[in-house]
Amino acid sequence: MEDVREGVIAARIAGHAADIAKGIPGAIERDIAMAQARKRLDWEQQIQLSLDPARARELRESSPPLEDDVCTMCGELCAIRHGKVSS
Ligand code: SF4
Repeated sequence: MEDVREGVIAARIAGHAADIAKGIPGAIERDIAMAQARKRLDWEQQIQLSLDPARARELRESSPPLEDDVCTMCGELCAIRHGKVSS
C-alpha cells in the first residue's frame, strides 16, 4: 500500500513539473510561494505547500533539528538563516 502511495506522489511531482513547463496557471505560483516560505524558514507553510503534506510533516517531526528555524541538512550552518541575519 505504501508503494502505491509513493507512486502516486511521484506521479504528482512529475505532473507538477509538467504543469510548470506547460505554463499551467497556478503551477509556478505554487513553487514561488514555496521558495518564499523557504526564504522565511516558514516550515509550516512549506509543509502545507508540499505535494504530500502528511509525509512532509512526518519527515520534519521524525528528525527534528536542534534549532527550530533550520533543518537537519545543514543545521547551525543554514545558509538561509545566515542570509537573513546578514541582510
Ligand atoms: S539547513 Fe540547509 S537545507 Fe535546511 S533550510 Fe537551511 S540551508 Fe536549506
